[in-house]
Amino acid sequence: MENKPIATPSRTKEILNKYGIHAKKGFGQNFMTNLSVVERMAEASHPEYPVVEIGPGIGSLTEQLAKRAPSVDAFEIDERLRPVLADTLQAYDNVTIHFQDFLEAQEEDIFGSHEKISVSANLPYYVTTPILFKLFEYGQRVPYITVMVQKEVAERFTAAPASKEYSALSVEAQYLYTVKKLFNVARTQFDPVPNVDSAVVGFSVHSDIPEDIPVQEFFAFVRDCFKQRRKTLYNNLKEIMDTDRISRILQDAGIEAGRRPQELSVNEYIQLYRSFRREG
Ligand code: SAM
Repeated sequence: MENKPIATPSRTKEILNKYGIHAKKGFGQNFMTNLSVVERMAEASHPEYPVVEIGPGIGSLTEQLAKRAPSVDAFEIDERLRPVLADTLQAYDNVTIHFQDFLEAQEEDIFGSHEKISVSANLPYYVTTPILFKLFEYGQRVPYITVMVQKEVAERFTAAPASKEYSALSVEAQYLYTVKKLFNVARTQFDPVPNVDSAVVGFSVHSDIPEDIPVQEFFAFVRDCFKQRRKTLYNNLKEIMDTDRISRILQDAGIEAGRRPQELSVNEYIQLYRSFRREG
């Protein structure tokens, strides 16, 4: 007989009580208790690929991924969850749990024998950005990332130019991926209830990322452009180069000096960066 799904309020309480587990704030532990949320997330996670999950917790999303994907490799930092996951996921022989800090994991640990993987996670809030930037470094090897993050962070990743939320983070993510907010998740759906709402965001990698642009240097340049949002691009760039050079670069890229960093599209940042390299 099949077990009851993990992602319900009563089963979550039962599991946490059985193993005497109290959620650790320091690990960003808020367990998802809504079955339809984890089902929708698993469906959206491109389970036609081998899936890597970050932070399985007590296994609520892992279980739904295991039902759909050829394999699930999940990275969990909290050793206390070892007996819990051995119990809750015992029916799924396509799941491997790695008790390891994902930020410390090496490329070979993450990919194993797979050329490409899809990543799925209800991310711990405190490490959302470092985890995503670690994944961004693998480029085409991670064609899809489906993550639950704080709603405000989802808005920054998906923001359009000229909006309040548009930032260096938006430019960086959208340079590499098509980024879409898939759905919102209310805070009341977690145990314990966090003090923010969440949203699920889907990233699908562009097939035509420019090969002539060194990604990390481009990102550093974009961050310099955004140093002070209220300043013009020209004034932000004055911090890193002389005014003659700025004028040459802006002219070459066809961008007016009076524009502010949040007004430029991703393509304009690409143009600007290419001019910056050319006019070195
Ligand atoms: N996936 C579960 C769910 O949806 O209920 C748990 C999500 S909870 C928000 C985040 C999980 O990530 C916790 O299980 C936590 O222990 C784990 N975690 C936190 N930091 C981590 C890290 N650096 N590497 C791997 N797992 C981490």
